[in-house]
Amino acid sequence: MQPKKTYSLIGIYGGTFNPIHFGHLRVAQEVADNLNLEHVKFIPSATPPHKPLPEVTAQQRVDMVKIAIKDNDKFNIDTRELERGNISYTIDTLKSLQLENIDNALCFLMGTDAFFHFNTWHRWEEILNYCHIVLFYRPIKTNNNLSIELEEYLKDHYAENCNNLNEYRNGLITMQNVTPLTISSTHIRELLKNNNSANYLTAKEVLNYISTNNLYR
Ligand code: ATP
Repeated sequence: MQPKKTYSLIGIYGGTFNPIHFGHLRVAQEVADNLNLEHVKFIPSATPPHKPLPEVTAQQRVDMVKIAIKDNDKFNIDTRELERGNISYTIDTLKSLQLENIDNALCFLMGTDAFFHFNTWHRWEEILNYCHIVLFYRPIKTNNNLSIELEEYLKDHYAENCNNLNEYRNGLITMQNVTPLTISSTHIRELLKNNNSANYLTAKEVLNYISTNNLYR
């Protein structure tokens, strides 16, 4: 009998990272440890389809991600969405990553806040053809409940045992427990705009970069 094929798992973490903070970083660390991810790719988005344009340059957001992850050899950055320019659709990113990583299964990391409006994403129903989805609870106020459509979708694809994720290349959803942190980039930007300290919400070196470059004033 042929041994079962297993795929090494890679975490894909998309976001605006405006700026990156400990909420992002801690989640990536915990999910990487829990699911034994080979590494996590941080993928800053170009023109986020769901958000107003960031007030700092894409290069500055990239610089901050690089600074924040530099000491973690399981974290790296992928700037393909910025190189592509225009609107960056997750499905295109996942498609290209899947072609490049034939022995891997991609795990797309997503907070529950993002999942609430997942069914508005471009070609959302095809996204699981290219990855698994790893959800984690983000303690943030949202005005809406999970739609019936997404509830059904979740039920249809939910993996009871996340240890089996590596037996499939794509198509499963799992939920991971992570330390709840209420940090957001919006809050950091507001603090800085009002001349308050954002110490201990993100890495000291990121705050130094923000200060040196006079960002979020
Ligand atoms: P903003 O406040 O500008 O909207 P943000 O803090 O929500 O930004 P993003 O870069 O937009 O950060 O988030 C990208 C991904 O990171 C999303 O999947 C989101 O759920 C997740 N995320 C961000 N902050 C946290 C947090 N504190 N805990 C868990 N997940 C988080």
